[in-house]
Amino acid sequence: LVSRKKKAEDTIININGEQVGAGDPSFIFGPCAVESQEQVMKVAEAIGGKGLKMIRGGAYKPRTSPYDFQGLGLEGLKMLKKAADQYNLAVVSEIVTPSHLEAALDYVDVVQVGARNMQNFELLKAVGSINKPVLLKRGMSATVDEFIHAAEYIIASGNENIILCERGIRTYEKATRNTLDISAVPILKQETHLPVFVDVTHSTGRRDLLLPAAKAAIAIGADGVMAEVHPDPAVALSDAQQQMDIGQFDEYYDALMKFMKQY
Ligand code: PEP
Ligand code: MN
Repeated sequence: LVSRKKKAEDTIININGEQVGAGDPSFIFGPCAVESQEQVMKVAEAIGGKGLKMIRGGAYKPRTSPYDFQGLGLEGLKMLKKAADQYNLAVVSEIVTPSHLEAALDYVDVVQVGARNMQNFELLKAVGSINKPVLLKRGMSATVDEFIHAAEYIIASGNENIILCERGIRTYEKATRNTLDISAVPILKQETHLPVFVDVTHSTGRRDLLLPAAKAAIAIGADGVMAEVHPDPAVALSDAQQQMDIGQFDEYYDALMKFMKQY
């Protein structure tokens, strides 16, 4: 059902008035994790000030170590929703288990399925039965074919509003956190009718690569870019190495807009 052969036209998803997948690139910015009301309010102000329509922030964090910050859960979602409402933003946030889904839907507009859960088939079926868009991230060791099949689980359960997100794959290369598989973007665009985003933060894991990777994503035909923004990345409870502060975010966004005008 996600195949171009089944449906030739692009799927366009209306998120908070923005037509995702309709041509102009969309953007999802926000902190790695929701840490406090003040933190998300500052980021929401910066995003809203640019006229953007979405904010991200994790409340249920899938962390490698059980001793690392696990997220604020439902309280975090409430904080993110409050900040989003203040600046007219839609909330994008990860859900890690079907049992959290129903309560979270009061606060989340776009449900993210993270890389580690790309083949959590019960979660895929669960988000397939809701009436909100799903941002599905590629598993870190998933082939394009497995990624497409994961999306098929969601659509097979009834939800067609799926954004695919390339977020880097695991290779032998250590210069970046993951290896951004940029060619996956046009392949996914050819094989499916779904919008395709690139997460430049988790793919590169390097602040100095966030801009060139986003330019590459837009140039190769991505429908949108995701990147992490935190008021004070040095003290962030997760992904401190790679988030932009607000000043860097302003410069980043200006540079990307300038780049896009060349097209
Ligand atoms: C995230 O976007 O917050 C995240 C954890 O990314 P990924 O699932 O791609 O690792
Ligand atoms: Mn992160």
